[in-house]
Amino acid sequence: MPLLQGKTGIVFGVANKRSIAWAIAQALSREGMRLAFTYQGERLKANVEELCAAMPDSLILPCDVTSDAEIDAVFKEVGDKFGGLDALVHSVAFAPREDLENDFVNTSREGFKTAHDISAYSLVGLTRAALPLFEKSGSGAVLALTYYGAEKAVEGYNLMGVAKASLEATIRYLAANLGPKNIRVNAISAGPVNTLAARGIKGFTGMLKHHAERAPLRRNVELEEIANAALFLISSMSAGITGEVLFVDGGYNIIGL
Ligand code: NAP
Repeated sequence: MPLLQGKTGIVFGVANKRSIAWAIAQALSREGMRLAFTYQGERLKANVEELCAAMPDSLILPCDVTSDAEIDAVFKEVGDKFGGLDALVHSVAFAPREDLENDFVNTSREGFKTAHDISAYSLVGLTRAALPLFEKSGSGAVLALTYYGAEKAVEGYNLMGVAKASLEATIRYLAANLGPKNIRVNAISAGPVNTLAARGIKGFTGMLKHHAERAPLRRNVELEEIANAALFLISSMSAGITGEVLFVDGGYNIIGL
């Protein structure tokens, strides 16, 4: 029987077919999970609708994660259509381009707030909104996407690294808070993948090359490898794991010199 037969999930962060969120959604759907998707703004609606055409029982809703009203509307609709909810995938991040490109010391107050609101706080807001639906299902699995720049200073990653450090701490605090309700919260720290968001990082192509040369597996990771790890962290195969950051980076993070 498929691993996630009869389960439901919601995926935030599909922009196009190269999005990590889309690779994860395909893996979850393959294992039988019924999915809701959100898109930010009309610009991306058509993309998401086109991708999801092959999943006729899916739900597609607008959601800018900076809006509490939009978050509430999404979970009301999901509750009406799905009843409960078993999983939430957070694959959303943003920092203003000038704050990523400037010297880190020149990071603006507004940019700092925006990056933390969209990339870290949103995990708290979305998880809180999902809580009543997880409780209906009797359990929940939350998964977020992070990067090594949360732990170490990575050239060009700048403000996003600080926001990811906040996201990783948020994962631990949510996991500690919600564990007694049988809700697990984990993250995947993915090696670099060529997506829309990644192109906002100055020197990203050089980063890809460097990772492929230095990682123990001597290559970059495939979207499918990230998606399969996500499937593990969302399914009951990882029932004893919460508050963790799992690296899917070809081993890059273990290398010293
Ligand atoms: P992506 O396809 O561009 O996905 C990023 C998503 O975040 C987009 O759908 C984007 O929508 C959405 N987003 C931004 N601001 C939002 C807001 N206010 N409300 C709702 N959604 C918003 O890029 P990706 O690389 O797959 O990124 C997914 C996650 O993986 C991110 O957390 C990223 O930091 C993480 N990650 C990526 C890499 C990598 O190398 N690509 C490595 C490690 C971790 P818009 O396009 O409309 O802004």
